[in-house]
Amino acid sequence: MQAEPTHTSTPPRSDVLVVGGGPAGLHAAFYAGWRGLSVRLLEARGELGGQLMALYPDKTVYDAPGRPQTRAADLVRALEDQLAPLGVDVRTGEVARTLEPDGEGGWVVSTDQRSYEAGAVILAAGLGALLPREARVPGVEAHPDVRTDLPDPAELAGKRVLVVGGVPQATRAALELADAGAEVTLTHRRAGFRGETGELARLEELRSNGRVRVFAPAVLQGLTPQGAELTVNGESVHIPADTILVLNGYLPDLSPLQGWPLEWDGEYVPDGQGGETSLPGVYVVGDLARSGKDFKLLSLAFAQAAIAANHAAHHVRPDLKVRPGHSSERGGYPVGGEERAPSR
Ligand SMILES: Cc1cc2nc3c(=O)[nH]c(=O)nc-3n(C[C@H](O)[C@H](O)[C@H](O)COP(=O)(O)OP(=O)(O)OC[C@H]3O[C@@H](n4cnc5c(N)ncnc54)[C@H](O)[C@@H]3O)c2cc1C
Repeated sequence: MQAEPTHTSTPPRSDVLVVGGGPAGLHAAFYAGWRGLSVRLLEARGELGGQLMALYPDKTVYDAPGRPQTRAADLVRALEDQLAPLGVDVRTGEVARTLEPDGEGGWVVSTDQRSYEAGAVILAAGLGALLPREARVPGVEAHPDVRTDLPDPAELAGKRVLVVGGVPQATRAALELADAGAEVTLTHRRAGFRGETGELARLEELRSNGRVRVFAPAVLQGLTPQGAELTVNGESVHIPADTILVLNGYLPDLSPLQGWPLEWDGEYVPDGQGGETSLPGVYVVGDLARSGKDFKLLSLAFAQAAIAANHAAHHVRPDLKVRPGHSSERGGYPVGGEERAPSR
């Protein structure tokens, strides 16, 4: 059920609001910031990077522009680094749920936490909000603290934490929790874990020096109020745990956006040449844009992001041309906002 937004505070209006922190959203935010606009970005997950971080952080990408071979996670870091000097207000862990006109030519986007006003909105929501899969383990209701996403590791310092799963997030969670001082056990039904090479090497190091207990392959028989019962090599093993993290990856959910007063074409939003949707000042880029439905690629997402951000710039600040000119002629980031002025 959709929660009612609780308007705890109203942050200042931004020129542009980007919904989605995947590659398309990160590059759109960069370009709008580069044009000197004030930019806010909302991301449903606790981290940026979209599908690259949620679904394949450890895989090598060969066709990202200018990066002959790059791990998906490294590409996301590079996009974040490029964005960092521009002062974009990045809000992770917030799902955009409603879009309404603000009565002054702009838009109000609301999340469960608060509402945000903006002169233009760039929808970069990809396949939908990448939300954690349900914890489908026997006896899940028996344990008082079962979670499906890693909280701030410091919150679990000193606690006994059982991490269940073989996805890259499970490997990373085990490492981060061990570093934060939790007593970590990691288990998976198969023998191997996924993750970046360095993370897997570190996991092996922590396993061999006893800082992380690893049971894999193991069958999770069920949760109890005190922890979990595993079967390992035919033997029952009881794992006492204060917190159980069941990390099984993410599933995309478009439903928070599908009630928006936009034209839809199935799971796509139709886009014009500048990325415009059927609503003035609302643009769509990346995997969600219908024009790229046969090319769900990073190259296209970056191009769409640049085009839409520059159209959005002209929309909120008609004195700015759509054409951005060449960055190489400009000699530096617009720190302090050389083209920046309030949009109203
Ligand atoms: C396994 C795999 C391998 C791939 N390999 C390649 C490759 O080698 N080369 C290549 O070019 N492409 C590859 N792709 C495709 C590429 O990852 C996508 O085209 C790209 O991620 C699209 O970027 P995006 O920003 O549009 O969407 P996404 O990456 O899906 O990001 C969208 C973000 O928006 C967030 N979001 C959605 N709804 C909301 C909401 N309501 N509120 C707040 N946030 C929201 C989501 O949580 C997500 O983080 C691969 C895809 C997969 C799954």
